This record gives sequence, structure tokens and C-alpha cells, in this order.
Amino acid sequence: MNHDEILNGLKEGNIKLYQVEKYASSVDEAIKIRRKFIEEFSDSSLDIIAKYDLDLEKASKRNIENPIGTIQIPLGVAGPLKINGDYCNREVYVPLATSEGALVASINRGCSTITLAGGVNTTIISDKMTRAPIIKANSAKDALKVKNYLEENFTKLKKIAEETTNHGKLLKINPILIIGNYIYPRFVYSTGDSMGMNMVTIATEKILEDLEKSLDVTHIALSGNVCVDKKPAAINMIEGRGKTISADIIIPEEIVKEKLKTTASAIQEVNISKNLIGSASAGSLSYNAHYANMIAAIFLATGQDLAHTVEGSLGITTAEDRNGDLYFSVNLPDLPIATVGGGTSIETANEGLNILNVAGSSKVQEFAEIIAGVVLAGELSLISALAAGHLARAHKELGRG
Ligand code: NAP
Repeated sequence: MNHDEILNGLKEGNIKLYQVEKYASSVDEAIKIRRKFIEEFSDSSLDIIAKYDLDLEKASKRNIENPIGTIQIPLGVAGPLKINGDYCNREVYVPLATSEGALVASINRGCSTITLAGGVNTTIISDKMTRAPIIKANSAKDALKVKNYLEENFTKLKKIAEETTNHGKLLKINPILIIGNYIYPRFVYSTGDSMGMNMVTIATEKILEDLEKSLDVTHIALSGNVCVDKKPAAINMIEGRGKTISADIIIPEEIVKEKLKTTASAIQEVNISKNLIGSASAGSLSYNAHYANMIAAIFLATGQDLAHTVEGSLGITTAEDRNGDLYFSVNLPDLPIATVGGGTSIETANEGLNILNVAGSSKVQEFAEIIAGVVLAGELSLISALAAGHLARAHKELGRG
């Protein structure tokens, strides 16, 4: 079929959006026809969406369906940021994609403060990915038998899961929740340098096949929301998901004064009253000022699954006045990230990872440490700005008094 015949087929509803490739001479032509259809349908011009250098033919095999082009987001850099980690021990410039003005400038101020103070220390506390399906037994008593089976046959189930992947390892099945006749086992894996959601889903599916053969049970859904994927959840805060990582620093009094224009005690008070008491009063799970800003900008720049920003936004900031010096920490319990797989192979994402020198295998821990450092930079900068405002107001009031 030629271009016009396919376009008419789309308009008349005889060809579905996903069938265009079947009739077009190439993926590139299919993209043009689909875009033209949307332009005519919406009476709009998509001239800019039409301009791109990405290999959409490659992307259409695993990253996008019904492609019509690409979007572009401004990309900035902040740095240098000195990281003193177990995996990353160097200065980096950090790519940040955002349309939120002032964000990169604010993170940049945090980076220069950190670097002047000798760098941010990072500690990876745990590394795992989870999948928790729903299994249905006949009664709560039978559900308990399933729980016992899972615990007693861990070695066998681990072998079944690990036959599906070269990098995935089943670490534990915990917790195993029982609600009436439903069982929610949380399968916990390590997934190498990949974020791992596809990997653990495939592995868990194989375990479910074994359970259905061995016991009188059915599985209702591969995900039972105890995972918990892409939603804020206390279980992820407590147990961790993805990378669980802390970053901390001691900033000498004179640097707090010179670079952040405030004091450790003012920062401590803003942190307690805003991030801790304010968040608790609101029933929030994010005891921080704006982790999501840094997470979203770096995720976008490096091809991470953007919906995981909701998990990356969890966490607690601490600030302590140590005789004028400032101890400051950010704590990220739930950071699902990758340096291989998913969107990391999209050309711009790969270049973003290359700016940090963390593309590919054996790099994900380094990447986690850099992200934690960037989150600390942004958090420090905003809390300090609020504290400086508070100080300025206090001075004004005192001056008037
Ligand atoms: P993936 O690209 O599906 O899997 C990673 C692949 O990379 C595997 O084939 C793995 O091989 C291979 N690999 C090569 N070198 C590796 C290394 N050093 N470390 C780890 N793996 C290596 O990615 P995924 O991380 O499992 O899943 C990410 C995708 O899942 C994203 O696109 C995301 O949007 C999507 N997602 C899926 C779900 C879901 O429920 N299925 C939920 C959320 C997101 P081996 O397996 O042989 O080791």
C-alpha cells in the first residue's frame, strides 16, 4: 500500500495505529504516516516532534509503540561534584534534563558547596529488586501451607528462578503476607546493573508455574502491589527497593556562612520543622524538601524509568548543628536505577550516562552514589535558601526592634 492508502485506512478505521508498520515500506515511513494522521486529526503541526536523530526503528523494538517522533527537553549540567564513595571516588559533572528554571542553578550551588567542603560521602546499604504476586488458596489454613512450602523449598525455587537469567539472583522471599485465602510473597532479587523489573517478573513467573503444579493454588496476578512498583509505600521505606543509599557530609561553619549565607542551627531548625514535623503532620512518606526534583532531572537525562521518580522521592533528610559546623544527610531507601537495559540504550540517554562515565556493566553502584550526591546537593541548597530567608527575616525584625 502507498502512503495515502495507509493514511486513508487509518482515517476510516480499517487500519489500527499499531498496524501501520505492517503496510508501510519501512518503520521510518510508518512513523511519518502515523504522525500525519495525528496532525490531521488534531489540526496541529508536529514539525518539531518530527525532527530527531534517535534510531526510532531500534527503539520501536523495545522502548516505544506507535511512535510518531520524539520530544526534546532542555539539558543542563551541574558541577563539579566531588563524590567520596566506595565505588565512585572522583569529581563529576551531572547532566540534568528539566524545564523547571532555577533547578540546575540551585543544584549547582549545592555541588560547589559540597566540593569546597571536601566532597559528599556515600554509602550503599542494600541493593535489590522485588516482585510480589497474588496467589489464591482455598482458605487461610491452606494459605499458610503455601507460605510453609515457599520457606521450605527456597533452594529449589531459587534454582528455577535463576535458570531464566544470567544476572538475576533470588535472595529471599520476605515478607510472605496472608490475607484470608490470598498469599502475597515478596520475591527479592539482585539484578546486576539492570533495574530488573522485567528480569524479576520473568523469573517469578517460572516460580508460579512450579507452585501451580505442586500445590492446589492459582495465581491471580503477577503483581499484587506488595512489590511495591511505582507507588509510594511504607514497605519500600522500611525494607528498601532498588538501591538503598545514604549520602552525608560535614560542612565547616565558615563554608556554611560563605556559600550558603546561613548557619547550621538555622538549617537544623528548618529541617526539623519542615521535613520532619511538617511531613509527619501531613501524613507524607517523603521526609524531605524535594528529592523528586533531582531524581526526575537525572532520570530523564540518563534513560531511567521515569515513573520510578515516585519511589525515588521517598526518604528522610537529617541536619545537625555540630558546634557551628553542619552535619547533613539524605537517605534514599528506594532508588530503582540501571546502567544497562530499559531506556539506557536510547542514544541521548547513553550519552547522559557517558557524561558520568557510568554506561554499561559494573557501573550501577557508581551511578547510585552519584545520584545520592546530587540529591544531597539539591536538598542542601533549597533548605539553606529557606534557612537564609528565615535568618534575613529575623535580622529585619531584630533591626526594627
Ligand atoms: P531488561 O532490559 O528487560 O533486562 C536487562 C537485560 O540486560 C537482561 O536481558 C540481562 O540479561 C541483560 N544484561 C546484560 N548485562 C547485564 C548486567 N551487567 N546486569 C544486569 N543485566 C544485564 O531490563 P530490566 O531492568 O529487567 O527491566 C527494565 C524495563 O522494565 C524498563 O524498560 C522498565 O520500563 C520496565 N518495567 C517493567 C515492569 C514489569 O512489570 N515488567 C515494571 C516496571 C518497569 P540476563 O537476564 O540474562 O541476566
